[in-house]
Amino acid sequence: MSKNFPASGLSEEEVSALLEERLAEDLTFTSGHILGSMCSQPHPFAAEIFRRQLEKNIGDPGLHPALAKLEEETIGILGNLFSNPHAVGSIVTGGTEANLLAMWTAKNRAPAERREVVLPETAHFSFEKAASLMDLTLIKVPTGPDNRVRVEEYKRAIGPRTMALVAIAGTTGLGAVDPLDTLSPLAVEHNLYLHIDAAFGGFVLPFLESAGYPPGGSAFDFSLKGVSSITLDPHKMGRCPIPSGCILYRNEEISGSSTTHVSYLAGGKTRQRTIVGTRSGAAVAAVWATLQHLGFEGFTQVVRECMENTFFLMNQIKLMNGVESVVQPTMNVVGIRPTGCSPDELARRLRGRGYALSLFPGFLRITLMPHLNREYLESFLTVLREGVKNG
Ligand code: PLP
Repeated sequence: MSKNFPASGLSEEEVSALLEERLAEDLTFTSGHILGSMCSQPHPFAAEIFRRQLEKNIGDPGLHPALAKLEEETIGILGNLFSNPHAVGSIVTGGTEANLLAMWTAKNRAPAERREVVLPETAHFSFEKAASLMDLTLIKVPTGPDNRVRVEEYKRAIGPRTMALVAIAGTTGLGAVDPLDTLSPLAVEHNLYLHIDAAFGGFVLPFLESAGYPPGGSAFDFSLKGVSSITLDPHKMGRCPIPSGCILYRNEEISGSSTTHVSYLAGGKTRQRTIVGTRSGAAVAAVWATLQHLGFEGFTQVVRECMENTFFLMNQIKLMNGVESVVQPTMNVVGIRPTGCSPDELARRLRGRGYALSLFPGFLRITLMPHLNREYLESFLTVLREGVKNG
């Protein structure tokens, strides 16, 4: 590793060769060895559109008014998918930025004495970041055996200092959907901001039924009257390149509390609804193009294939000695637990054989993303069989 600033430049060929060599040890989605990521290989068309629009900065929308309209349209299309064609929002860097924005918006709308956020213990760590950045207190509510938050305890956690409620439509660990239809009336009753984190579930849940699978156990969108905002990530199951996240707000009035007005940009006076300033216009174009290209049918097919692979893997694991599944999957996420060694030990053995799974307390997570096909899963199962048998 040389940290010296290069004195003179190398040719493009030399740098490319060097880069290939330097990055050779990185895992790739095309190897079929990444089983623990919620990201995937982007759709080739989305990647191409992204490349073509690379120079666009949608943080300065006056320079790119056509792209700004495209973003508005994209938000409208996604709002429609989530039962609210009037939703407003932004294409952001990912689930973390969207969750930070939701908490920032909720904070700006709440009186200063309200700084507690009630959320399931399964919530993503981006809420820890929000708490640290904004001096919020997280009131974590336990989940039941089905990995959904316990409603009675959730109700009890709401108090005079509550600023916002959070629920998850597709938990990071096991893809569980909280009982949102029961939680939403609580937000209405207490007049509280309710944010739904559907970063992963956002591009799975709307397509489950049409793909032939049970719909996830609860409504998860703006049809629930209490919902103020929703996070969904095109760069997870939406087949889009990183960075593509999305925040949807129920209406302009809610979003207005985290909008910054800017007077000096080259494109003229404008407003930004995001945390970051300069922002990838390529991501906006790629999300719009992917929605247009795949359509509802295309996304249904993506979800159907991922779910078929999920149940194929589940059935094989049920037949295997030395490992068991943690829960019946709601979406394309499988939790496994070895019976003869610790999950940490199994993760280490698999990594030693080139496979990357996610390690959670008490189990390993496999996400059946679009880059995984049956052949890859067969190879993984062979390695898993060896891994649970011996070191
Ligand atoms: N929310 C949920 C439920 C997630 O699973 C994740 C990431 O896995 C995030 C938020 C954060 O997303 P990102 O890594 O894109 O910031």
